Amino acid sequence: MENCIFCKIASGQIPSDKVYEDDRILCFKDLHPQAPIHLLVISKKHFAKLTDIDSSNSADIAYIFEKIPVIAKKVGLDKGFRVIANCGEDAGQTVFHVHFHILGGKKFSESF
Ligand code: 5GP
Ligand code: ZN
Repeated sequence: MENCIFCKIASGQIPSDKVYEDDRILCFKDLHPQAPIHLLVISKKHFAKLTDIDSSNSADIAYIFEKIPVIAKKVGLDKGFRVIANCGEDAGQTVFHVHFHILGGKKFSESF
């Protein structure tokens, strides 16, 4: 997808601090971390928003969730972590390529 910053990161056009990569997904460190560990996981396929997910592409999202435990273990998030996905304007989505934030390395409060 032209002009998509995360597609450019996925293709290596824009550098990132990679934590995990395979043929389908990439996990890299967030540029502006909101927790001691703040990672982003993306599919290498471009989907703009969670509302674009349907039966034709949900397997790509399921695959991300298969790998999140692998990634969490790799970075030592043994005591837990939070996964967040922002969808649309009210949620504050700023990059329109579906991504999941993995946040950890601290104890979170229950509030958002
Ligand atoms: P959103 O608000 O869309 O859920 O989150 C987008 C996230 O992407 C933000 O936390 C922001 O810091 C991160 N981000 C934006 N541009 C870049 C970039 O070029 N590289 C990296 N590593 N993270 C980015
Ligand atoms: Zn993209």
